[in-house]
Amino acid sequence: MKNDQSSKICLVTGASSGIGYAIARALAAEGHTVIVTARRQERLQELDAPNTLLIPGDLTDPHFQQQVVQTMFDTYGRCDYLFNCAGTIEAGSINDIDIDKMADMIRLNVEATFRLTYLVLKRFITQGFGHVINLSSVMGTKVRPTAGAYAATKFAMEALSEALRMELAGTPVKISCIEPGLVMTELHKDWDVHPKESMGIHHPLTVDNIVDTVKFIMQQPEHVRIPKLMILPGDHQI
Ligand code: NDP
Repeated sequence: MKNDQSSKICLVTGASSGIGYAIARALAAEGHTVIVTARRQERLQELDAPNTLLIPGDLTDPHFQQQVVQTMFDTYGRCDYLFNCAGTIEAGSINDIDIDKMADMIRLNVEATFRLTYLVLKRFITQGFGHVINLSSVMGTKVRPTAGAYAATKFAMEALSEALRMELAGTPVKISCIEPGLVMTELHKDWDVHPKESMGIHHPLTVDNIVDTVKFIMQQPEHVRIPKLMILPGDHQI
């Protein structure tokens, strides 16, 4: 089936803050229907946008994921875009890193994201269209000391996406990874020293820069694929 409808059905995870929130807002402002999910319902409510369905919950729960996808298809009958924005970062030296929090990160960034991607891709293949857009990171292409586990989660996302792109070649279903450098969001809110300071990045990216990247990817013609797109602040050195 070909989907020519201009108003898209978009599932956005991690939509209660940062990049996911900005993407959800921008999509709703452009007249698309947005299914938003994250744990904090009150923060999802702040979106206050038309054509938005809030489904609060913990994405690391596979039953919750099933519920989100089922509700979306029961309500709208299709899905055009999955934005995998839910993610967290746990970093620290060998002696300092919190291993339980590191495991939680792996559960969300890798297991939950992979589960949802497969769940939705099966639907995309059945319906004959759909596009997965993953929020990877520049750290999906390189590592740095203390952030190896986080980088590993993003390398995992990149590896899965590339293999899936190969599986999907010749079909209308698309998969892309956006690889941002530092973006000002709540991701580093608990850090003693913000990476802005430690990495000397005086002009980090804004969520609007990521929204523009998303729009660029969405504007591409049917035959074009953007498997990965890196976006960095001008003063990002490593
Ligand atoms: P934020 O911390 O601002 O947002 C993270 C989102 O993930 C929140 O909406 C949070 O919602 C959600 N989330 C966390 N845990 C869970 C969970 N268990 N179940 C459901 N949702 C959850 O971070 P960003 O917007 O910066 O990050 C978005 C993505 O972009 C991440 O994957 C991150 O790795 C990536 N990225 C970020 C960069 C940056 O510098 N900011 C750079 C490169 C990539 P809630 O707490 O309500 O559940």
